[in-house]
Amino acid sequence: MEHFVECLGASGEVGRSAFLLQSDKRIMNDYGIKVFDESGLPKYPVHSQIKPEVMILSHGHLDHCGSLPLLYRDSKIQWYGTPPTKDIADILWQDSMKIMGEDIPYEPTHYRKALRQWKPMLYGQTMQIGETQVKTYDAGHIAGSAMVEYDFKDKIFLYTGDFKGEDTYMQKAAKPVKDVDVLMIESTYAKKEHPKRMETEYNFMDEVEMTVEEGGTVLLPAFALGRTQELISIIREHNSEIPVYVDGMGRAITDVYLKYPQYIRDINKFRKDVRSVRMIRSNDDRRNATREPSIIITSAGMMNGGPVLTYLMNLNPKSKIMFTGYCVEGTNGWKLQKHGFVTIDEQDMKVDLPVRYYDFSAHAGRSDILNFIKSANPQKIILVHGDKTQEFAKELVEDFGFDAVAPMIGDRVPIF
Ligand SMILES: [Zn+2]
Ligand SMILES: [Zn+2]
Repeated sequence: MEHFVECLGASGEVGRSAFLLQSDKRIMNDYGIKVFDESGLPKYPVHSQIKPEVMILSHGHLDHCGSLPLLYRDSKIQWYGTPPTKDIADILWQDSMKIMGEDIPYEPTHYRKALRQWKPMLYGQTMQIGETQVKTYDAGHIAGSAMVEYDFKDKIFLYTGDFKGEDTYMQKAAKPVKDVDVLMIESTYAKKEHPKRMETEYNFMDEVEMTVEEGGTVLLPAFALGRTQELISIIREHNSEIPVYVDGMGRAITDVYLKYPQYIRDINKFRKDVRSVRMIRSNDDRRNATREPSIIITSAGMMNGGPVLTYLMNLNPKSKIMFTGYCVEGTNGWKLQKHGFVTIDEQDMKVDLPVRYYDFSAHAGRSDILNFIKSANPQKIILVHGDKTQEFAKELVEDFGFDAVAPMIGDRVPIF
């Protein structure tokens, strides 16, 4: 039998990760959605002739889990994910149905079916799927994020999912994995080095403190999953006084993080930090939050919806908007950073406040990716989840002597 990976998304792009591994079993790795596409419409994994027999979810971000309920329209395969991943996916699916309504091609029945078919997967534990042994490692990206290793006929295939190669407050760095035969690796920042973390933290906090001292509000549009929790911890690491408010879906995700202490690097610090911030629960809370100089952490991270837009309208002139995550072209966050306006209800609105960007990415930077590859020392590298995969493949082949490919969507990459 031929063994291969079929790339159904996130190939030559970021978004809608979906990779079907054919060993003796047909194993779907992730089944995500691309929420923001140039077409203006969400994108789903492309259709495959092959029906998966089982599914493994690396982590709870929508670009990895967002289309999973689609698999439950006409089948009911089991899927595996760590316990936090399952809780996170549950929250994000519900939110997607609420926001996208009829535009999302699955219904509450598929969502409920999907939840019932979940089986827990734990770091370090080996599972047997047919003749294929599956083992997962902490990917250091968000709570519950996993790298998935397949051992089939004594060959090792490793899918990194999204990973981070350095410690954050929330997660421990992913450990290098040795002796991999085929490595399928995310390459979001393969061509970009992140600035030094501590330096970024200090610069960020200087600007935050200055803004608040001068009587302004610091508005932090933040991804609900991972970034909101990390920002709470960064701020409290450096300053225990400034009032911090947390709004949007980040509250529910924070509860998931607290529910699974073994998935957080320093749960005692995080518990203490969370106790010191104020969770916004009503419109009155919202109004009060902008009345005193403070920090407001709220979704959506790219400002396409969520309470962040309400706050934006109520900031005093001494305030600042500080981004800490990537904004896709065309989103409000991108427009605000590039052109100083946002679009609300089809109206363009100019924003006359300083806008900043600090890189607190949860993805491995260029040297982390290179170090990971060198340690794994694979026979073959499959580059996914990046928009410069072709360039990076060329570099790995010509400058580092690896066999590397950058598949496009729909491609089948033979393995072993
Ligand atoms: Zn992710
Ligand atoms: Zn991703």
